[in-house]
Amino acid sequence: MADRAQKILKTVFGYDTFRPLQAEVINSILEKKDTLVILPTGGGKSLCYQIPAMLFSSLTVVISPLIALMKDQVEQMQRVGVPAAMLNSALETGTYRHNIAQIKSGAARLLYVAPETLMMPRTMSLLAGTGVDCLAIDEAHCISEWGHDFRPEYRQLVQIRKQFPKAVCAAVTATATPRVRQDIQTTLGFKHTDTFIGSFNRENLYLQIVPKDNSLSRVLRLIQRFRDQAGIIYCATRRQVDELALILQDEGVSALPYHAGLSDTMRRTNQERFIRDDTCIIVATIAFGMGIDKPDVRFVIHYDMPKNIESYYQEIGRAGRDGLPADCLLLFSYGDVYKIKHFIQQKAPTERRAANTHLNAFLRFVEWPGCRRIPLLQYFGEAPANVKCGQCDNCQKGQKEQIDVTIFAQKFLSCVYRTGELFGAAHIINVLRGSKAQRVIQLKHQRLSTYGIGRDLSKKQWQSLSRQFLHQGLLIEDTDYGGFRLGPNARDVLKNKKKIWGWLDDDPADENDKAAPPDLKKRDIPGYDRDLFQLLKEKRKEIADQEKVPPYVVFADKTLMEMAAYFPQTEAGMLQIHGVGETKLSVYGSEFLNVIQLFCRKQGIPEKPKPVTKPIRKPPARVKKKRHEVIGETFSAGRTVAEIMEMFAVKRQTALDHLYRYWCEGNPLETDNFGIHLNLSSQQTDSVFTYFEKLGIRRLKPVFDALAGEIDYPDLFVLRLMFIAQNALMVDERVRR
Ligand code: ADP
Ligand code: ZN
Repeated sequence: MADRAQKILKTVFGYDTFRPLQAEVINSILEKKDTLVILPTGGGKSLCYQIPAMLFSSLTVVISPLIALMKDQVEQMQRVGVPAAMLNSALETGTYRHNIAQIKSGAARLLYVAPETLMMPRTMSLLAGTGVDCLAIDEAHCISEWGHDFRPEYRQLVQIRKQFPKAVCAAVTATATPRVRQDIQTTLGFKHTDTFIGSFNRENLYLQIVPKDNSLSRVLRLIQRFRDQAGIIYCATRRQVDELALILQDEGVSALPYHAGLSDTMRRTNQERFIRDDTCIIVATIAFGMGIDKPDVRFVIHYDMPKNIESYYQEIGRAGRDGLPADCLLLFSYGDVYKIKHFIQQKAPTERRAANTHLNAFLRFVEWPGCRRIPLLQYFGEAPANVKCGQCDNCQKGQKEQIDVTIFAQKFLSCVYRTGELFGAAHIINVLRGSKAQRVIQLKHQRLSTYGIGRDLSKKQWQSLSRQFLHQGLLIEDTDYGGFRLGPNARDVLKNKKKIWGWLDDDPADENDKAAPPDLKKRDIPGYDRDLFQLLKEKRKEIADQEKVPPYVVFADKTLMEMAAYFPQTEAGMLQIHGVGETKLSVYGSEFLNVIQLFCRKQGIPEKPKPVTKPIRKPPARVKKKRHEVIGETFSAGRTVAEIMEMFAVKRQTALDHLYRYWCEGNPLETDNFGIHLNLSSQQTDSVFTYFEKLGIRRLKPVFDALAGEIDYPDLFVLRLMFIAQNALMVDERVRR
């Protein structure tokens, strides 16, 4: 079977190799094991069920929530010569009937259907007649109430499973927390199950954050870099969208606005023009993007700060689905942060906390001085192995050396302490720098011993340091008022027992010219002839308009680039090109061959052989990690216990047990930021730690007894982990266990 799948990949789709996990997923589905697939946008999820559909004898039913995407997929299937049909409420009666006939006759291999249409008795009886081999559920997270776009209709899919017990189920999605994952499997009654989780690292996206000044010229420069190619610019407000779109139009850029304030028709037209390559750029609010499958978006700009890391990831994810290089530029200003903070203050206290947590996670990403992929992927619970991606501004400018900033940390922390652990960065910095600000004088903070001891650094430098101290757990920020308290690590720093390393930066988002993205030519596009590429694009557009489909449905950019690099002038040569399968060759081959032949004859260019890429033997599917390992790594990657409880849907004690087990197996806890506040005095904590030192940590009972039961076991569990994390050298203890 595996060989046949490989063959279909080449002859039908025209691709040489599978993307990560595709082959494994296809095998699993072919073995009729219910399969859950979590791959990022552009990971190639559709192929995972499309290829099995061609190998099964009965129908594959694809359940898809968005009619627009359904249409796109059916068109793409038809273009590669795979008969596919769709059923949904938006079809005209004639088409509907025609599609039903196709399914009845067994001509269609795939049926795309909206969940509510599927549930209709007549659809069910239709399918009972044809038989179903595979149920593929697209956007499977919609099934879970815990997910972000729950659709009640998806719940009814359970009944379908009962009706077709022999059909294997493939659930695919790009977003699923562990809880949602579990929900998908239980709701769908998965039995012999395989789960495949791909990395969320999108290697082809260049990540860059620059200060928000000269915004327009930065934007224009990026547009110039991808001249005549598609891009999305996200703004925070409708007004900003309208303004920027006008400015760009004045600059001669083909740009259109998109936001909820425009009429339906206007929105639809603008989106359609973008998809059909009639306009290059869409300036939009976050209302834009759902249901857009355009694979050749070359850049995404955040003109304003995104809502949180998840939205950022989702929005930049719309760039470069075709795997070719794409740029993601974020214009950042602390002014925006203050606006958001102000906005958060207006919220109800419960919402405030969540909003602040999101904001801080985002700031951690912005202020991170190393490879940007580290905080980004950590947020999604991945511990990136490669700490230098080379595809972000920080990697590009070369990471700055860390220096010993213990003295600064001591100054800052003692100032926080002396002012009563109440104030935020601005006030602390004022005191440190000896400011005569009214508030300082009012509070008599000029009399403190820490007043004026920090004049040697600029305000900006202190600001950057304070953020670093926060991210290192030396400080805890009050989520409601923004005041700092001392964090779990602060004690040792003040006692001179622990050194702190950090970056002395002027501005965390300072742009450095070297941080510009690398030359596009060096980024995995084969050197191709731009003139021929242009001619091929024109041909593609002409055909697409005739057929009323988006140009990418005819051929992807990469296909045209390869044509313009290898100049195929025969059908055999054409079949070597990425994305040219047998059907597309017979339908479009001659028209594109004509363009190439004419061009090459004029220029005297011969056909160049395309280097053969052998299908790479994929490494075996990832060995599934044990739960405590995943939890341990997630914690080490900077998530707090509370976040872990949420992510893995476990109780606090369970989370702590997992962490302890993780450590016992020889893994380090890389941080001591538990995010747990215990109602204990520092004397109590100290005495527990002293007993741990004396009596060991293997058993808690002796410590409990020594303290005459003054401290409960739940607290002791937490303290033991804090103790471990703060004393990384307790290997012996572990061995003795
Ligand atoms: P997803 O649904 O995961 O966002 P798609 O299934 O839409 O991703 O695939 C994204 C793009 O990648 C599509 O244009 C698809 O044709 C292409 N693609 C999928 N698999 C491969 C492959 N093995 N080699 C090359 N291109 C692929
Ligand atoms: Zn990097």
